[in-house]
Amino acid sequence: MADEECDYLFKTVLIGDSAVGKSNLLSRFAKDEFYLDTKPTIGVEFAYRNTKLGDKIIKAQIWDTAGQERFRAITNSYYRGALGAMLVYDITRNETFEHVRKWLQELREFGDPDMVVVLVGNKSDLVDLREVEVEDGQKLAEVEKLCFLETSAKENVNVEDAFLQMITKIYKIASQKSL
Ligand code: GDP
Repeated sequence: MADEECDYLFKTVLIGDSAVGKSNLLSRFAKDEFYLDTKPTIGVEFAYRNTKLGDKIIKAQIWDTAGQERFRAITNSYYRGALGAMLVYDITRNETFEHVRKWLQELREFGDPDMVVVLVGNKSDLVDLREVEVEDGQKLAEVEKLCFLETSAKENVNVEDAFLQMITKIYKIASQKSL
């Protein structure tokens, strides 16, 4: 899909347990062009950011749950049409890592079969509170065939990279399909 200002427009979603840092990751990434918008009918928020890949301008529309996951109220429409997902857990709360498989199941049930999924262990700055080892994230990502990164939204570590990995991969798949 394209509009006047970009060559490709993609929808992507953020998922994961409550308070893992999804909103902070989004505001970090979208910081310069942050027009946080709301869709009151479905209770989600989203932001856009343009990224240049070669001579193409890619516009990522990134949806945030706006806390809906707390009530298990994420509906099919949240996932519909999304080509990428950033699945976030908090490295200081093991339970958020244990729930990753549940989120994956949901993605596979409702999402596009070719959806690019990036697994993100956030809050890497909180070293003393770490409950999930880097290797655990890596192993899970390997088994489930996901990209993986640890990030700190607070200290702006790997945030750009995590989103760019997702966007680049989506673009590759989309441009191959349109060949
Ligand atoms: P969401 O519910 O998943 O959207 O999580 P939020 O983005 O609202 O963040 C939940 C809490 O974690 C807030 O108090 C944030 O300030 C904090 N937080 C988010 N990311 C980080 C991070 O990378 N490091 C630290 N130390 N705190 C973070």
